[in-house]
Amino acid sequence: MKEIILAKIGELVLKGLNRRQFEDKLIKNIKKTIRHLGEFEIKNAQSTITIIPKDDFIDLDEVCEHVGRVFGIVTYSRAAICEEKSLDSILKTAPEYLSEQLSSVKTFKVEARRSDKRFPYKSPEIARETGGAILRAFPHLKVDVHSPELTVTVEVRDYYAYVRGAAIRGAGGIPVGTGGKAVILISGGIDSPVAAYMMAKRGIRLTAVHFASPPYTSERAEQKVVKLLKKVALYSGDMNMYTVPFTEIQETIRKKCPEDYFTLIMRRLMMKISERIARERGCQALITGESLGQVASQTIGALGCTDDAANLPVFRPLIGMDKQEIIDISYKIDTYDISIEPYEDCCTVFTPKHPRTKPVLERIKAAEELGEFEPMIERALENLKVTYINTKDE
Ligand code: ATP
Ligand code: MG
Repeated sequence: MKEIILAKIGELVLKGLNRRQFEDKLIKNIKKTIRHLGEFEIKNAQSTITIIPKDDFIDLDEVCEHVGRVFGIVTYSRAAICEEKSLDSILKTAPEYLSEQLSSVKTFKVEARRSDKRFPYKSPEIARETGGAILRAFPHLKVDVHSPELTVTVEVRDYYAYVRGAAIRGAGGIPVGTGGKAVILISGGIDSPVAAYMMAKRGIRLTAVHFASPPYTSERAEQKVVKLLKKVALYSGDMNMYTVPFTEIQETIRKKCPEDYFTLIMRRLMMKISERIARERGCQALITGESLGQVASQTIGALGCTDDAANLPVFRPLIGMDKQEIIDISYKIDTYDISIEPYEDCCTVFTPKHPRTKPVLERIKAAEELGEFEPMIERALENLKVTYINTKDE
């Protein structure tokens, strides 16, 4: 029996003129994530994308796993193509294809959709007849139209008739690439990979920036960030990661600036450098993993001082979330276990004993003057290291 995958597109975002653009991008993104699994034909009609495997060796479970991570898909399911587009063929296929699921439940119902209006039976007839065929094959079953354990769906579409069981919830969101480009400031912590995932979900294509301070931070700390981004890239698609050499700047902060402002000055310089990287690569916003009140540098006053350093919008998707809520998402996207590996981040190398929770912007700016950071920023930007993050060698 030939099996395919049907993926339903999000309805809300698709209204209006953007629809075509969303659909084209979504199909491109699906093709990209599954192309290493074999050859596929992909069709798009009536808010449903049909993925038809062309090779016999293709493992549909694996395809589903990838499709389940593509933003812009609300639900998806495996389905069997009926040999012919006829009622007889539907009645034969339904009990056969779903026999395992039908054997393990007590109640079911059949829903039928006929988008090919030339098909000689109307939807209620198709549903009734299919229900009858299932009952004959599985006499233990009862029809329950209100809360069935299994809903069997028959769809009669342009080319084929399909039979399928329950649909699985997709990744939701908007196709990556339809929401512009932004720079994610990525550390090795729990929060920033989650922030990256959340903004990719809103259609943003990511570029990653990571600050490293060797020898205070190790090569393994950087490799940890690469591992995290590979997990994120399963959802967001491939991206570039820029590693910024940050040692000279951090040592200068420690030497020349007041201790209680160490962290904030460092955060502001991160924003300035990230903005430069963003603008040079056509990115329109910065993303961080900050959450209000989580640490001293994330009070409302501290965030104001951080914002002041950059002239691009700063997206903080975790701003209103509790740590546990963030951790729950990190489990879901499988970054948690990597994030808790114990390598030093440059943020934790020079932490002040008594950081300011109510900082004064003018004092920070005056302290920054003392550091004369401009030439160091230029040097850091000249010495960026680029790593291409892809998911395929996982
Ligand atoms: P995370 O878990 O993401 O490290 P955090 O709660 O530890 O966040 P901070 O260490 O104060 O918070 O960092 C706040 C944000 O600053 C991070 O979420 C990240 O976006 C950015 N950031 C921190 N360290 C780095 C770094 N070494 N390189 C790039 N961005 C960083
Ligand atoms: Mg951190």
